[in-house]
Amino acid sequence: MIASHSQFASLPHPLPPPPPRLLNQPSFRPRATLLSRVFRVPTGRCHRQRHPWGGGTVRALDAAQAFDYESRASEELEQRARLKIAIVGFGNFGQFLARTFAAQGHAILAYSRSDHSAAAGSLGAAFFRDPHDLCEQHPDVVLLCTSILSAEAVLRSLPFQRLRRSTLFVDVLSVKEFPKNLLLHILPPDFDILCTHPMFGPESGKHGWAGLPFVYDKVRIGDSEDRVDRCRRFLDIFAREGCRMVEMSCAEHDENAAEIQFLTHTVGRILAKLDLKSTPINTKGYETLLKLVENTCSDSFDLYNGLFMYNKNSTELLERLELAFDSLKKELFGRLHDILRKQLFESPNGSSAPVAKDN
Ligand code: NAP
Repeated sequence: MIASHSQFASLPHPLPPPPPRLLNQPSFRPRATLLSRVFRVPTGRCHRQRHPWGGGTVRALDAAQAFDYESRASEELEQRARLKIAIVGFGNFGQFLARTFAAQGHAILAYSRSDHSAAAGSLGAAFFRDPHDLCEQHPDVVLLCTSILSAEAVLRSLPFQRLRRSTLFVDVLSVKEFPKNLLLHILPPDFDILCTHPMFGPESGKHGWAGLPFVYDKVRIGDSEDRVDRCRRFLDIFAREGCRMVEMSCAEHDENAAEIQFLTHTVGRILAKLDLKSTPINTKGYETLLKLVENTCSDSFDLYNGLFMYNKNSTELLERLELAFDSLKKELFGRLHDILRKQLFESPNGSSAPVAKDN
């Protein structure tokens, strides 16, 4: 096949405008690499064509040349690795994840109750107000990223019949047994299910995800090669960012998360009620407490409430916390009473005769 200058000129506009914020991210690799490969030719007269994103110039040549099979193959490979991900619930966490998905070159479709079209647009993502329109786009992955409390209603409102039968459903809810049972119960049996919990958020993950834990449970993944590969490609998004990948059952996650997560959030929220202030003599420990309040209270109360309502281990944890607090108080007051009793009942010379009182 011979490529000519006129053919280049008539190429359809291959790239959407770049989201400006993405260009500043180190991991963002615009598909300009693909484009420049398409235009890469070894010899002949050179024409300059402006890059569609307005960046540099792309060189194209008039001369006859061999078809670049290697480039085409690697393009196809990149296309195959690219996932079309529909994010259902495009709030705080949905947008946070979308930034990295987009930076890795995945196509994002966003859907939410509120209008987040501006945020979606800034990531080069399409925003949908109607779930039918969203599902008709046939995403590879539907990512449930709505609040724990609204998850069931949101899931039931999706028109599954408009999706491809093999669609992969992933959830990122901070509790795991509840969405697992919900997805198994509500989704048609052909759909794949991957339950995950990125154990970080917009605050703790703002400087990157390296070393942060990502928990997942492959609840139902069909054994055909393409389904296994699609699941792997989704997990690979997090692995590529350096997350610590932890495969764990949903039940085990919830047992651990009650202590790790619910306890942390509860302590942060109790401290917030004290309205702690920064002082000129803050210690390191106190700074940690202030940071904890900031980290936990930047999440919505719905999220915290969901951790309590939908993790059966949380109730027990709250009771243990109360008992621990009571026992600590008893210990302190017990010592105080001992001292007071001594002062009240022991004479100054050490005998146990009661000290006479005026009244
Ligand atoms: P969130 O308060 O738990 O959820 C906010 C999202 O839920 C928004 O997209 C919101 O939609 C949607 N929503 C809330 N009530 C709704 C309703 N009645 N009907 C339809 N949609 C509703 O805050 P989040 O931080 O964004 O968390 C989202 C999910 O990610 C949660 O399941 C959470 O457990 C999980 N997660 C969060 C973090 C984190 O650090 N934040 C970390 C790991 C996992 P609109 O914005 O359109 O109103």
